[in-house]
Amino acid sequence: MDGIILIEGGGVILGNEPVLLTPGPLTTSPATREAMRRDWGSWDTGFNRMTQTICADLVEIVHGGNDYVCVPLQGSGTFAVEAALGTLVPRQARVLVPDNGAYCARIVRILQRLGIDYVELKFAEHEPASVAAIEDALNADPRITHVAQVHLETSAGLLNPLEEIAAVCRRRDVRLIVDAMSSFGALPIDLRAGGIDALVSASGKCLEGVPGMGFAIVRRSLLEASAGQSPSLALDLYDQYAYMQKTTQWRFTPPTHVLAALRAALDQFLAEGGQPARGARYRHNCETLVNSMRALGFEPFLAPEVQAPVIVTFHAPRDPKWRFADFYNAVRDAGYILYPGKLTEVETFRVGCIGAIDENEMHNAVAAIARVLTALGISVR
Ligand SMILES: *Cc1c(COP(=O)(O)O)cnc(C)c1O
Repeated sequence: MDGIILIEGGGVILGNEPVLLTPGPLTTSPATREAMRRDWGSWDTGFNRMTQTICADLVEIVHGGNDYVCVPLQGSGTFAVEAALGTLVPRQARVLVPDNGAYCARIVRILQRLGIDYVELKFAEHEPASVAAIEDALNADPRITHVAQVHLETSAGLLNPLEEIAAVCRRRDVRLIVDAMSSFGALPIDLRAGGIDALVSASGKCLEGVPGMGFAIVRRSLLEASAGQSPSLALDLYDQYAYMQKTTQWRFTPPTHVLAALRAALDQFLAEGGQPARGARYRHNCETLVNSMRALGFEPFLAPEVQAPVIVTFHAPRDPKWRFADFYNAVRDAGYILYPGKLTEVETFRVGCIGAIDENEMHNAVAAIARVLTALGISVR
């Protein structure tokens, strides 16, 4: 059985790795994977310098200048979201959470665990957060001190109007914490416009690193005023920051290979032309995907004007023979990993357009989907 990997569902993949059309982990470049072939000691000055250059680049991507600092954190993206909320939001605060999907709902669950008061502002899963409704909610409840906003709701692939929401928060002097997990690096975010106090993202999404590290880009003055606030030891962003400032080292064992891969991924990101180029490639991937899926009869769940170029939700075919698991397994055997839907109301599935992929992969993936539909005898229209 040497060299044969058996995976769930009995599929056998020999040598050829599948292309991940998912919102992370995603397909990384050979150079990014190559960067993980050496070991680093956590005391190594070369390693600690690497951490510093990564943090400086991350702040620069969103034009944070000297007013913002980057605090990296071990773990997946949710660890960093929970760390940011726990560190930056005082226990007596009240947080407004505009909610149009599963990642917004996750913020609510984190606030519940932290024992922080919140107001949930519900929207439909296809509906961007309304700036007017946010302003109304702030008017109705002057005790609201913070807004926690998901920029790109990955559940449906929906873009929320971050700039306008930030403008409201700035005007109202309300703190704004943004989950920019699946938008950071791909969509423009400019901290110089004001209004955003913290942005949270991770290594394994649009930066095309491997998963394992989150980070928060925080207004320096806010972070420095947050000592002792986190109820958690491991998720205390202030402690992580203060320790790094003092020692240049990570507070606990760093994910060394993840950092090395992220350094390589950022070098490629900058060589590609930074956020504008990354966003343009994803937009092109997304258009290619949507147009060729439409040609097969698939309908996107979202209206084009609110569809972010990161992951696309499609309605499942109405054919009674449709079973997502069968479709998924057959497309996987053809070399492409799709993603299940994450909506509560309608049967959908998702296809990502991020990672080290271009329009060729999108064309090939849709061709594979077409062959699978024929083989399974499923009609889309
Ligand atoms: C991926 C993602 C997260 C973090 O999820 P993890 O599974 O912890 O990596 C949080 N918010 C959004 C919007 C995401 O897309």
